[in-house]
Amino acid sequence: MKTIYLDNNATTMVAPEVLEEMLPYFRDLYGNPSSIHTFGGQVAKKIAEAREKAASLLGAEPDEIVFTSCGTESDNAAILSALSVNPGKNHIVTSRVEHPAVKVLCERLAAKGYRVTELPVDSDGMIDMDAYRRFLTPDTAVVSIMWANNETGVIFPVEEMASIAKERGIMFHTDAVQAAGKIPINMKNNEIDMLSISGHKLHAQKGIGILYIRKGTSFSPFLIGGHQEKGRRGGTENVPGIIGLGKACELAYLNLERENNYVKSLRDRLENALLKKIPRCKVNGHRQNRLPNTTNMSFESVEGESILLLLDQYGICASSGSACTSGSIQPSHVLRAMGVPYTMIHGSVRFSLSIYNTEEEIDFVIDVMPKIIERLRQMSPYWRHEQEACSSV
Ligand code: PLP
Repeated sequence: MKTIYLDNNATTMVAPEVLEEMLPYFRDLYGNPSSIHTFGGQVAKKIAEAREKAASLLGAEPDEIVFTSCGTESDNAAILSALSVNPGKNHIVTSRVEHPAVKVLCERLAAKGYRVTELPVDSDGMIDMDAYRRFLTPDTAVVSIMWANNETGVIFPVEEMASIAKERGIMFHTDAVQAAGKIPINMKNNEIDMLSISGHKLHAQKGIGILYIRKGTSFSPFLIGGHQEKGRRGGTENVPGIIGLGKACELAYLNLERENNYVKSLRDRLENALLKKIPRCKVNGHRQNRLPNTTNMSFESVEGESILLLLDQYGICASSGSACTSGSIQPSHVLRAMGVPYTMIHGSVRFSLSIYNTEEEIDFVIDVMPKIIERLRQMSPYWRHEQEACSSV
């Protein structure tokens, strides 16, 4: 059975070009980039090239790129650094819809005595900007708001938010793990101090990430050790991972237009067809202000997990809520924050596409989904009761 992979916000396929670029650095060129000899030096040169490619994707300077082990490390490093370099300040501003890499860290920090404000979102998943302005205080050390939400794809006005923070002398971090490679990012046009990226969300391998640190930003390292990454992240470099991520950034830059035209058109084709063919379903999140590859849809009176299991029988991979929280029975904290009704939260499915998807794949899902929902609804006592009540009127 062919796999139809529509779970690209959970992780992506390593691009063939990325793998090709990495392979020699496992096999032959295994030197340590810190070594004095030529064998290690050629690896250091290749890492410098990868740093330039990553910088180009972000409109950044190569020196502003620090390679880390993942998006989670980048998020933790940014927030903990901001607190460390602002020792007199005790307040963190974040949102109710952050990924656990930020949310759970902030909860831990709250337990240690920091004051944490989680900004609310409206029913479209958008941040309340007036509340944001109101919550910033002279005691605020850092604001950490994601660029785009992993569950709904909703895009937040982080550039505007960073400028507001800057006016008040507050550090601003954004988790751009889902945004990078899907929408244009140009760090020359904003005042964001730190930004996180994860390789496996943009067709590089798992276990590699980036923390962008704007030139001149005070920074206190999370991993303390050697002089790697100019003393900003100790530990011998993940050489193949970095080289692969550099290539992935180069490809992501070249594919941005395809992402925003081709992938978006596939996403819209899927979404519009399901809305038309399936009664009592809706899209969660702002319809325009959204990543081009993501749709989060709720189907009333069915369980998201049951939908996923039946989709799986057809080889279709999707997700209910965030991949990191699926497997737990907790309803999505993102959809709860948006006030999505309970019966709709439980029937939510996220489809996240990539440039590797085809029209045939999408049409197959469009064909299969209505049958799956109908089958599950026929098994739902609540749904059957409702239908009987309607037909007896
Ligand atoms: N931030 C967001 C928005 C994510 O979607 C994810 C992964 O799902 C992460 C952070 C964590 O990235 P990583 O898996 O590289 O630690």
